[in-house]
Amino acid sequence: MLKVGLVGWRGMVGSVLMQRMREEGDFAHFEPFFFTTSNVGGVAPQEAGGAPLNDAKDIGALSAMDVVITCQGGDYTADVYEKLRHSGWGGYWIDAAKTLRMQDDAVIVLDPVNMAVVKRAIDNGIKNYIGGNCTVSCMLIGLSGLFQRDLVEWMTCMTYQAASGGGATHMRELLTQFGTLNAEVKALLDDSHSAILEIDRKVLAKQHSLTAEETQQFGVPLAGNLIPWIDKDMAPMGTPGMSLEEWKGMAETNKILGRGPGFGTEAIPIDSLCVRVGAMRCHSQALTIKLKRDVPLAEIEGMIADANPWVKVVENTREASMRELTPAAVTGKMHIPVGRMRKLAMGSTYLSAFTVGDQLLWGAAEPLRRMLRIILEK
Ligand code: NAP
Repeated sequence: MLKVGLVGWRGMVGSVLMQRMREEGDFAHFEPFFFTTSNVGGVAPQEAGGAPLNDAKDIGALSAMDVVITCQGGDYTADVYEKLRHSGWGGYWIDAAKTLRMQDDAVIVLDPVNMAVVKRAIDNGIKNYIGGNCTVSCMLIGLSGLFQRDLVEWMTCMTYQAASGGGATHMRELLTQFGTLNAEVKALLDDSHSAILEIDRKVLAKQHSLTAEETQQFGVPLAGNLIPWIDKDMAPMGTPGMSLEEWKGMAETNKILGRGPGFGTEAIPIDSLCVRVGAMRCHSQALTIKLKRDVPLAEIEGMIADANPWVKVVENTREASMRELTPAAVTGKMHIPVGRMRKLAMGSTYLSAFTVGDQLLWGAAEPLRRMLRIILEK
């Protein structure tokens, strides 16, 4: 059996990965070794068979693995990956972090969409398989029927991304802010005759007076608010006015599809405007898609629905949209609903759509565990 080292298994992505691997019986297919950056010698999950936690910075211990799968984060990858390769290690590196994603010797994994790219890379001896940006992966599972047929001329993605995209501490901050705002106006809320503008004024005043500690993760209030910028500013990289999250939309989508200059083809233009909203989990996106040719809406829905077992077309009605196309409806679910589909007034080759995906499942953990199975079964 191959030896697989698991790093970052207790974080947000790692916990969902462990849950999915247990559900799918993955641990029966390899010998697991658990690593930690904070609790060396501590108690490992039951799958370790009583062995204690290993040091995730110990290059010798890592190099005994055939596969390392890490959800520890970009700083860890930056710290350890090069040292491990320099030690002569030739194993497979499977990673949730963005650090290695765009490197030439790394493939972004999303096998229901790019199995051919993954298989070619394995045959060519590529050893680095990296999970994609969560928003991109969820969008591609939803829309792969259109990309498979090369129907997309260009696309815009207006995103509504949950607090948990930043990790566990960000979720806690959002919930704490909700509680703080509620406490500020609780007495007024309890009195059904109180003036709504007084409630509104007090909430706004409280949002403005939240301390640096109360907004430590997001920098400004997220409860009762939204933040139209996610991640770094790309200006120093020569793309002013664009966030890193927005840059990934086009760069990663094309790399996953095996398109763009690196593959000798034209990249599909994709422009995004990424917004953090006060949802707990799930990233949602409103899409405007320019099709290369006019295809009837019913055919488009069929192409999307048939692309893979996880996509689910939602009828474009008020009832279905409210019931099935929200973060609260999709959290913890493996399916990716695509709805609000209609042709736009701009012309019959312009399509709108709305999709929601659990960014911890298809957006993070699921492509990693599936990649591990692909390696184990090759
Ligand atoms: P996270 O929840 O902050 O976990 C990362 C590590 O933090 C854990 O493995 C753990 O390492 C340590 N940690 C410290 N205190 C902890 C606590 N109280 N509970 C649990 N873990 C704690 O990070 P994440 O959101 O899972 O992200 C991991 C990587 O996946 C990042 O590169 C991120 O960009 C990427 N990613 C995240 C998402 C998302 O939606 N969150 C989606 C796609 C990709 P030790 O056990 O070694 O201490």
